[in-house]
Amino acid sequence: MGGAELIGKEEREAVSEVIDRGVLFRYGFNEKRKNIFRVLEFEAEFCRYVGCSYALGVASGSAALRVALAALGLQRGDEVITQSFTFVATIEAILEAAGVPIITEVDKSLNMDPRDLEAKITDKTRAIIPVHMLGVPARMDEIMAVARKKNIPVLEDSCQACGSSYHGKKTGTIGSMGTYSFDYVKTLTTGEGGMVSTNDKRLYHRAAYYHDHGHEHNPELPRGEDSHSITGFNYRMNEIQGAMGKVQLARLDFVLAEQRRNKAEIKKAIGEIPGVEFRDLPDPAGDGGDTLAFFLPEAKAAKAFNDFLAKEKIDTKILPSAMNWHFVGNWNHIIQYCRPYRTDAWPRSEALLKRAIAFPISVRMSADQIRRIIDGVRRAAKEVL
Ligand SMILES: *Cc1c(COP(=O)(O)O)cnc(C)c1O
Repeated sequence: MGGAELIGKEEREAVSEVIDRGVLFRYGFNEKRKNIFRVLEFEAEFCRYVGCSYALGVASGSAALRVALAALGLQRGDEVITQSFTFVATIEAILEAAGVPIITEVDKSLNMDPRDLEAKITDKTRAIIPVHMLGVPARMDEIMAVARKKNIPVLEDSCQACGSSYHGKKTGTIGSMGTYSFDYVKTLTTGEGGMVSTNDKRLYHRAAYYHDHGHEHNPELPRGEDSHSITGFNYRMNEIQGAMGKVQLARLDFVLAEQRRNKAEIKKAIGEIPGVEFRDLPDPAGDGGDTLAFFLPEAKAAKAFNDFLAKEKIDTKILPSAMNWHFVGNWNHIIQYCRPYRTDAWPRSEALLKRAIAFPISVRMSADQIRRIIDGVRRAAKEVL
């Protein structure tokens, strides 16, 4: 569960302090708030942490994607390429922006297959959204090479990978823009919340305007007289989220280190089991570590493996337990808006996902919890492989 496991005294104090001052809005009321701006501080600290020039706090990860697509200037009917295995929000954000989601296969990294990306680019493609699923960075070198060749901006959906990195760069800072989610089950949580990151001043300003009804935040003008040049909506983060985010950000390195340590211990213990093939990690050192995923030789074995785990009450994560929300082939309610318009158009993704099992890795995992997973995998393998 990441940061949510650690919510305690510091979060309570930071939030109480905002409530005591009484200003929950991120803008204005300078005197009453004693010139304390928690969202602004959180954004500045987030920039330093991930290594980007600009960050904008927003209401959710979904909002972050929507705002970033607006900043990129997406127009009705523009094509946006993303991947078959993701949380439904990635596709919803494209639809909210009136774009057409074009869906690629995933490869054994369970992230965007760069070759399929190249094959799906057309003269209408306006953005590419690789998703760093389950804390693992996508193959960004290959994806960026394709994007540069075609001159198409990359928006990284790093909602599940806050703090993960790829060859020394934090995910979300490699493409033109990045997005993060701080919902309750993400690595860093503010209850609900999100962030947009970029190194491009123009994109940052467009995002900031769009997320606040077009307000240009002219420091010379009171809010009621502020200037505007584009429309927008309300996707703002509030001061309670900002205060909480600062505390959680300070915990992030600890969260990642503990997850990575727990995951490494389990991997080491089950790595020798024949028939267990770990998911590809494009940069093993950058894995956020909140999920352990592997493939079994065939779908039938994975199903039996999962049934065994369920019987033993050992929890899995997303694969296969929440595939309904994470694989486009299951989305009869959305598929008509996507291309290809067919639920069976991603045979390689589907075959891989049906062979996959994933376990949640938490920050505070007791030796007993770790042993239960190791033992469960060993016994399931013995029984079904
Ligand atoms: C969680 C998530 C989102 C949306 O974030 P919310 O804060 O829940 O709105 C978007 N994309 C992916 C890949 C996610 O996992």
